Amino acid sequence: MAHVLYQCPRTGMKVQAWLKDDSESAAQATFELLHCPACSQMHFVDRRTGHLLGDKKE
Ligand SMILES: [Zn+2]
Repeated sequence: MAHVLYQCPRTGMKVQAWLKDDSESAAQATFELLHCPACSQMHFVDRRTGHLLGDKKE
């Protein structure tokens, strides 16, 4: 299992999410659709960087 740390855009909370260890998709630029425990919404999170899809901030 791998995990990613991202910041919830709605609450600003840091959220740690566990990812299924998938070596096939790990070779690609992959966004995971994750259920966010902080805001109960779904976010697309880049599993390699923790950036959210559409997040323009560096
Ligand atoms: Zn959230």
